[in-house]
Amino acid sequence: MSAPSGNNNALNSSAGYSGVVEHSGPLHSFLEHATVLAFPVVLVLNLHWASSDLYKLELLWLIALAIPLGVILGDFVSGIVHWAADTYGSEDMPVIGPSLVKPFRLHHIYPRDICTHGLVETTGNVCILAVPLLSLSLYLQWLLPGSGLLAFSVVCLALMATATVATNQFHKWAHQESPSACARWLQRKRLVLEPAHHKRHHTEPFNVNYCITNGWLNPLLNKLKFFRRLEATLAFFGIKTAKAKENT
Ligand SMILES: [Zn+2]
Ligand SMILES: [Zn+2]
Repeated sequence: MSAPSGNNNALNSSAGYSGVVEHSGPLHSFLEHATVLAFPVVLVLNLHWASSDLYKLELLWLIALAIPLGVILGDFVSGIVHWAADTYGSEDMPVIGPSLVKPFRLHHIYPRDICTHGLVETTGNVCILAVPLLSLSLYLQWLLPGSGLLAFSVVCLALMATATVATNQFHKWAHQESPSACARWLQRKRLVLEPAHHKRHHTEPFNVNYCITNGWLNPLLNKLKFFRRLEATLAFFGIKTAKAKENT
């Protein structure tokens, strides 16, 4: 996502929508489309190679462990990235300012804008990061065939990447007024982000429930005050939150 292109493409300006259509620049748009197409290819290759190695080593049962682990790691990554974008940096920072910080900050002002995004816009930014990562893991498997530890790690990584790529789609469903029956079923089963659970993040003081894949980790991280402790640790090393910088 990039900067708003102007007010001439007005959408629905009712509550929660900015009424502005956003367009990626040509390079960003090309990368989004190319990596959205490449992601399923590198994902399937990774899973095929890794599961073949696990099968040969009679360790295929490890996939049962990798599935929840990968999904939980994906939820954790979504929380860390979301918290970092909400709490640190500015929209003017190079590269990550317009592509990461700005969309999250705008999302708090216009939470329904995400409902107007197509599949490429919703998942493209994460695919731009996930495709090189999964390409690197393919290369490592080519270098080290037959490694059980590597094969298990690759399955976890591939599932984590899948959960992370799907995160904004789940986030979008949580803001839709009428999500599909399939999305509603997944939400009811808490397999994806549940709207009432996510609403807490959009309620003052806006500093809980940062995980937005399925939110499984939110109760634990809230209880541990994980993000407040992380902010205190970073402040100790001189890294201030955007709010603290505004107040100085
Ligand atoms: Zn947020
Ligand atoms: Zn939201």
